[in-house]
Amino acid sequence: MSARCVGPEQGSPGRQLPVIKLKYVDFSLVMDVKLTSCSVCPWQWEEVSGYDENMNTIRTYQVCNVFDNNQNNWVRTKYIRRHGAQRIHVEIKFSVRDCSSIPSVPGSCKETFNLYYYETDSDTANKVSPAWMENPWIKVDTIAADESFSQVDLGSRVMKINREVRSFGPVSRQGFYLAFQDYGSCMSLIAVRVFYRKCPRVVENGAVFPETLSGAESTSLVVARGVCVPNGEEVDVPIKLYCNGDGEWMVPIGRCMCKAGHEAVENGTVCRACGSGFFKPSQGDHQCLQCPINSRITNEGATNCVCRNGYYRTDSDPPLMPCTTIPSAPQSVISIVNETALRLEWSAPRDGGGREDVVYNIICKSCGGGRGGCTRCGDNVQFVPRQLGLTETKVHISDLLAHTQYTFEIQAVNGVSDQSPYSPQYSSVKITTNQAAPSAVSIMHQVSRTPDSITLSWSQPDQPNGLILDYELQYYEKVKSVDRCYCLVRSQTNTAVIRGLKPGAIYVFQVRARTVAGFGRFSGKMFFQTMTEEEYKSSFQEKLPLIIGSAAAGMVFIIAVVVFVIVCNRRSSERPESEFTDKLQHYTSGMKIYIDPFTYEDPNEAVREFAKEIDTSCVKIEQVIGAGEFGEVCSGNLRLPGKREILVAIKTLKVGYTERQRRDFLSEASIMGQFDHPNIIHLEGVVTKSAPVMIITEFMENGSLDSFLRQNDGQFTVIQLVGMLRGIAAGMKYLNDMNYVHRDLAARNILVNSNLVCKVSDFGLSRFLEDDTSDPTYTSALGGKIPIRWTAPEAIQYRKFTSSSDGWSYGIVMWEVMSYGERPYWDMSNQDVINAIEQDYRLPPPMDCPSALHQLMLDCWQKDRNNRPKFSQIVNNLDKMIRNPNSLKATTPLSSSVHLPLLDRSTPDFSSFSTVDEWLDAIKMGQYKENFANEDFTSFDVVSQMTMEDILRVGVTLVGHQKKILNSVQSMRAQMNQITSVEV
Ligand code: AMP
Repeated sequence: MSARCVGPEQGSPGRQLPVIKLKYVDFSLVMDVKLTSCSVCPWQWEEVSGYDENMNTIRTYQVCNVFDNNQNNWVRTKYIRRHGAQRIHVEIKFSVRDCSSIPSVPGSCKETFNLYYYETDSDTANKVSPAWMENPWIKVDTIAADESFSQVDLGSRVMKINREVRSFGPVSRQGFYLAFQDYGSCMSLIAVRVFYRKCPRVVENGAVFPETLSGAESTSLVVARGVCVPNGEEVDVPIKLYCNGDGEWMVPIGRCMCKAGHEAVENGTVCRACGSGFFKPSQGDHQCLQCPINSRITNEGATNCVCRNGYYRTDSDPPLMPCTTIPSAPQSVISIVNETALRLEWSAPRDGGGREDVVYNIICKSCGGGRGGCTRCGDNVQFVPRQLGLTETKVHISDLLAHTQYTFEIQAVNGVSDQSPYSPQYSSVKITTNQAAPSAVSIMHQVSRTPDSITLSWSQPDQPNGLILDYELQYYEKVKSVDRCYCLVRSQTNTAVIRGLKPGAIYVFQVRARTVAGFGRFSGKMFFQTMTEEEYKSSFQEKLPLIIGSAAAGMVFIIAVVVFVIVCNRRSSERPESEFTDKLQHYTSGMKIYIDPFTYEDPNEAVREFAKEIDTSCVKIEQVIGAGEFGEVCSGNLRLPGKREILVAIKTLKVGYTERQRRDFLSEASIMGQFDHPNIIHLEGVVTKSAPVMIITEFMENGSLDSFLRQNDGQFTVIQLVGMLRGIAAGMKYLNDMNYVHRDLAARNILVNSNLVCKVSDFGLSRFLEDDTSDPTYTSALGGKIPIRWTAPEAIQYRKFTSSSDGWSYGIVMWEVMSYGERPYWDMSNQDVINAIEQDYRLPPPMDCPSALHQLMLDCWQKDRNNRPKFSQIVNNLDKMIRNPNSLKATTPLSSSVHLPLLDRSTPDFSSFSTVDEWLDAIKMGQYKENFANEDFTSFDVVSQMTMEDILRVGVTLVGHQKKILNSVQSMRAQMNQITSVEV
């Protein structure tokens, strides 16, 4: 027989790997194996014909000497080349006669045989070598039949064929022989197949893996490095696969992806270049994309498409975005000239060039030169919000020259305008400014003074808008008296001597310029004081030696010098600085008057005068506690030499500030430093000589009043709240006495310390000056920002800020305090607030608010500012209430049973909510939703019947919250009754 060699072995079926199972082929070694029988064995294997299960004729090697003892019959294969394999598999088909089916068989009958192999580098076998015995063979296994056959089977000449596979390794010589040893069985060898396993060449995860032979052990894993297919690139880690003992690829690591400009096709086995009109911008699995609009490409393998002529891309435009072009000109320009100011409005261009980032630049050309040409406007023209890069379609332009023709070009530009060789498209408008009054004089100085006169000088207005004909000076005595005169003086120059004044009196001065267009605005108020008689006398005496000195012309020069030195010394010791004189002028009979730091020619002078310079080494910043307008607000410690360390708040000026920001930032210190009152935040000093610039104030542990109240909703007694209000009113009275108008009195600008003492803070002026704040509390108005909800109508309408307008704001603060930090007018828009106030609607009393306090609020909100109470009256009024707490008992009855006033939102209409949870949120008691649900208070019917016991039962322990819920429940009940009665 020839041992039959069969085709490729299919790996053991049933085995499942925990990895991707790769296509698996193994290679079968084809052998033309002629078996060689043992020449010295007691009996021989015989080549015999038989039948397989399918009745095909087969040749077999048989042995069956079961009746003879000591059988040891060998048969071996011819030399088999190893072909590099490390592990060899042998499949044997055989049949074995069942010993028990052989009558009178001796006990030596076997049903097994042994398989051996012998390695050698060449085919050296002959009849005696390798020896027909265990040594030098290596045993692979003793093989038993799964099924043996009996006499009956034999009779039918059909054999039961067994199939067994064994493997061995590692093998390392050039080849080997196999041997089968029979030692007393009755069996046939039908077929022997010898093979090894390998993982085939494969393209997997974008890489080619070469054919790889399995390892020496069945558990071996042989690593193979993959090579990316052409135009593929490895991603992250080197790509690998492992070939296992069954010839299966497993454990893929890493992967290759097609490069930019190439896409994966044919199941990921090929990276094909993108065709014409297609591109792929980056490495990856995605397909090539069609060129975006307005771009094209003809090359293959493109990573990007090229913009068509006249179309562009910015560096940040993604390659998938269509190419874009410059915008067309802005449309429908409207210009509104107001004296020397102009408002321009326009509509967006018809075509934005395909982009969303269109902005506008304004080119200003003045055409009043007389020679017909236009020149670019100078830097003095003001554009609000700015001249270039406008995102809105409007701009306010001011400080133009009067009676001058201008051309304004409104250019539309976008992200690709820079790339276009053409200048931006624009619409232009020609205007002529009108006659305009001069702008206001910004600063006035005292030149000299006597007991009955003051000599002043001032600078010309920044915008004279024509020839100044003269100046008008208005002045009056600061102290109110029956015979107070509002006097006017005209001067054709920018100096004036004002005579006939009272000695030692403070006068308030304002000046304005006049041209043919009329008077400009008055300057701000400035205060100057005449000399007292005593001052005058002493100054005269000081000058006397000089007068004598000059009269005695013949006196020796040295004597004159000595006299001069003495005089100078005396002057300087009595008046160390010139500012000292000025400062003196701002006091009257023991009461100081506030000085606007901006009346100083150099505002740094004001800082030096009113704020103490602190060495930065005395300040230790601990942590950030808030955000101020100019930088962070921190808490920290201040240790001044010889003093104990104190807690302080430190306002810092952020780096990169402009000179103007520094001036505005420090102006708050110059203002605060002039005040000294227990209800005004106290300035410790400033750090200006090192960075960062800081303003250091006393530390207020509870922060700003509005958030403090919101965090402690319902937690204070009425007397405690009135105490806070009293403190604020006292602070405001002091400011009022100092002639200072706050303009931004609101709970957010009151600070609270650990003893619940409230202090007025926030004396920054900048938000009234700048226009670009994003804080919605402050609404732009011509000439500054206004916190609408807190501001008196006359201040909103015509910027009449007085202590009476502060009084209105105080009424709002009262309402904020009594409602624990509720937002005034809730979510109404600013315009609705203005309209409602105009129609005489006022905020209703907050819940539980004593009627006396609401009445005081209403007084503060009198339309006619003269009817509003003065702060001194407010303080007296509150003091009375504190002394007589009974006056605070009466509260306004619930408004729910009567018509709801327009502005009353303190007890919301429950019918506008669909669930109890929504209602709880609306009354700001949302934290009790779960408590209500747990106790089954989930419908309005049940909630409306709640008693105080029920409220306690659901777990509301805070008295303020109990009251709030009870009030709202009562209101709900009242509203329900009303609905019912209407329905009936
Ligand atoms: P301001 O720039 O004054 O509005 O301050 C911003 C925030 O910093 C305030 O809202 C307070 O929370 C906090 N803050 C300012 N000054 C103090 C202070 N003296 N004590 C405690 N916190 C302060």
